[in-house]
Amino acid sequence: MDIAPLMEQEEASRKGVLMKATKGTESLALWVRTAIKDFINKSPENTLQNRGSEKAWADPLVGFSRGDDPLYQEYKEMIGTFYWTAWEIFDKTFPEVEVEPGHLTVISWVLPQTEATKSDNRTQTVYPSERWARARIYGEEANIKLREHVVRVLQESGFEAVAPMLSPLWRREKSDRYGLASTWSERHAAYASGLGTFGLSEGLITPKGKAMRVGSVVARIQIPPTTRPYKDHHAYCLFFSKGICGNCVQRCPVGAITEEGHDKLKCFNHIRQTSAEHVKSHYGFDGYGCGLCQTGVPCESKIPIEDDVQ
Ligand code: SF4
Ligand code: SF4
Repeated sequence: MDIAPLMEQEEASRKGVLMKATKGTESLALWVRTAIKDFINKSPENTLQNRGSEKAWADPLVGFSRGDDPLYQEYKEMIGTFYWTAWEIFDKTFPEVEVEPGHLTVISWVLPQTEATKSDNRTQTVYPSERWARARIYGEEANIKLREHVVRVLQESGFEAVAPMLSPLWRREKSDRYGLASTWSERHAAYASGLGTFGLSEGLITPKGKAMRVGSVVARIQIPPTTRPYKDHHAYCLFFSKGICGNCVQRCPVGAITEEGHDKLKCFNHIRQTSAEHVKSHYGFDGYGCGLCQTGVPCESKIPIEDDVQ
């Protein structure tokens, strides 16, 4: 019998016990938050891969939610049986580890677009700006590296961890209720982790706005959950909270947003087909994107208030 994996597991567990003994749960939160922020603020991996090697993302937001938060089960019931709770993806990844859902934490982050990228995209009327398209492709590559980095940092300290979006088991699915879906949603993890609420266009409105991307990792670590300063999943969207705005409807070049909501298929076709051709022919790389409804709108860079609506 090969005992090497068992020894590795024991070693990792020993490190985890040591880490827990030397760090309180609050300092575990600080430790994880610092690992994420340092990667984005200091690593050369955070790049648009353009001539000036500009940063893809500005300073991140980080939030935490408990693995046994009832929201994860509610998501499953709303989206479809294929949707994973935090415990399910952890258990699929580490079937040999016995763990209660309440001993897991979902670590979630928001990567805000830079001012340069937002400012470029504000002027667009049909296609994404070059910086926006680069953020979609090369920025997301940095986000993938951040997920891998967070998993590595945790595992090296004895905390088993998985990035659901990087799991070979992750797949796209069709939800009876919501259409295009998948086994894990970064935006839903961010909502559960106190980082924002959904807008009319289905983007997540965060304290740093809607022009951003999200990521998450599920780990066997106990970190106090971030307070959710909202009760309603549309709380930050002025259309739902005050009956005004709707500016994202006008920003969409293909009519994918209406007062009834977001047509995912229309949006997907514009992003992945029409825009992809434009990115290739005008910017010279294989990319895609849009983000017009995320820029030039009151919720672009903040939680909007009534005075922000023009
Ligand atoms: S632009 Fe206005 S209506 Fe659209 S998501 Fe933002 S706040 Fe809501
Ligand atoms: S990303 Fe573009 S196509 Fe999709 S809803 Fe927003 S503006 Fe419309």
